[in-house]
Amino acid sequence: RLKQRLAGSNALGRGLLALISRDQLDDATWESIEDLLIGSDLGVKASTELVEKVRTRLRVEGGDARTILKDELVTLLDPAADRRLQVTGEGGKPGIVLVVGVNGAGKTTTVGKLARILVAEDRKVVLGAADTFRAAAADQLETWGSRVGVEVVRGAEGADPSSVAFDAAKEGVDHGLDTVVIDTAGRLQNKQGLMDELGKVKRVTEKQAPVTETLLVLDATTGQNGLVQARVFNEAVDITGVVLTKLDGSAKGGIVVQVQQELGVPVKLVGLGEGPDDLAPFSPEAFVDALLG
Ligand code: GDP
Repeated sequence: RLKQRLAGSNALGRGLLALISRDQLDDATWESIEDLLIGSDLGVKASTELVEKVRTRLRVEGGDARTILKDELVTLLDPAADRRLQVTGEGGKPGIVLVVGVNGAGKTTTVGKLARILVAEDRKVVLGAADTFRAAAADQLETWGSRVGVEVVRGAEGADPSSVAFDAAKEGVDHGLDTVVIDTAGRLQNKQGLMDELGKVKRVTEKQAPVTETLLVLDATTGQNGLVQARVFNEAVDITGVVLTKLDGSAKGGIVVQVQQELGVPVKLVGLGEGPDDLAPFSPEAFVDALLG
């Protein structure tokens, strides 16, 4: 599915494949490859180094340019990173997954899709609608809840987000559920406000059970802006994994590398559309395969 989603619409893969498959890989072609990589938000330094490495290996080892490019891309995506989600707790407590990110990044959608996956794995799940600033956000989460068959804990509009998160976690603990997934508010009002709010949500939730996974949802199409957001959120709460959304139809896949290097945590999931089944575990090998065939 990753392949269909990415290859069908991905200008990056098509462009790279056309260039790397040429008989004559002259300087101009390598420059075009570098430009495409930079355009994919891989970053200038990483793009230049990558092309340099591929050219050197090709010269020294011979062989097939596409295979070497694929190999180097996979290496850059950090294939050894642990991308498993911590969705279960210890000592009979549920796993608590906090989902953070700015409004519009795809948080609520991701929570819904993630619940779908967890339910499919036979886990008992409850969702917490801790984005209490927009009534629409809780409504949207309830729609997802009924779509995937899980209960949603919500508070009154304007309620303290941390109290809703606490209630959701309590529901998980009291009923012996496996996982509590908490959708948070994404107002990036100012750094201090965000840190205070998310810090409190985490602190209060942990009166019930430890947060086992904190996922930052980033919109892949926002480029450098996404990196700035990532930095701010990582200072507010310790991010343990990134969900990169809207990779479908985006030629910006290179951002994966920058995000991982910036945060030092892996991209664990990717969003590939708006539907309930459009969330996939991120695999460097599958990703590069989808790009370059
Ligand atoms: P939130 O404000 O962070 O909770 O963002 P939402 O979950 O409301 O998502 C914002 C918009 O992005 C909605 O229209 C979603 O359908 C859309 N969206 C979320 N994830 C994806 C994705 O992976 N691909 C695409 N194409 N759209 C997405």
